[in-house]
Amino acid sequence: MKNEKKDYEPVTCGHCEGLGCTYCNKTGTVLVAAPKRHCSHCEGVGCIYCGFTGWAEPKGKYD
Ligand SMILES: [Zn+2]
Ligand SMILES: [Zn+2]
Repeated sequence: MKNEKKDYEPVTCGHCEGLGCTYCNKTGTVLVAAPKRHCSHCEGVGCIYCGFTGWAEPKGKYD
């Protein structure tokens, strides 16, 4: 069984709200660990802990 594999889901970038910025590679969306949840440090505003995406565990930061 492969229960350790993490699932990711796309969410709207909390920094640019979908417009595209450097934190989401200009895509407007970011992949975060599912189930998606707002960053507990900034509550979605964006901080160093969430890579300024506003979401907890964005893909890439912990890979
Ligand atoms: Zn963005
Ligand atoms: Zn944050």
